[in-house]
Amino acid sequence: MHEMTLMGEVREIVVQAAKQHKFTRVKRVVLEIGQLSGVQAEAMRFCFDVVMEDTPAAGAKLEIEEIPGRAWCNRCGKEVEITSRVEPCPECMGMPGKIVQGMEMRVKGLEVE
Ligand SMILES: [Zn+2]
Repeated sequence: MHEMTLMGEVREIVVQAAKQHKFTRVKRVVLEIGQLSGVQAEAMRFCFDVVMEDTPAAGAKLEIEEIPGRAWCNRCGKEVEITSRVEPCPECMGMPGKIVQGMEMRVKGLEVE
């Protein structure tokens, strides 16, 4: 499962941060997931507890913020909201040129003790 691998990366970030900033327990992990990233928030929630076992984030609360997809449409000359990478521009039905936002998956913050 793709999400399992991603959560492994999140685990790595948490472990490194704990070492660097010398905290021992994480109470809350905030993740940002772009709507166009293909990452399923539900699947991330599902594997969180298992992957975070034996780390400072064991038993922590997972919060997921979904970032809406935005693309630049050359035809309209502006940014438009899209929900998938293959979706046309909602205003002119042309294919938007460049994804501006929504491809990311990152750790936004950690609340530590
Ligand atoms: Zn357009």
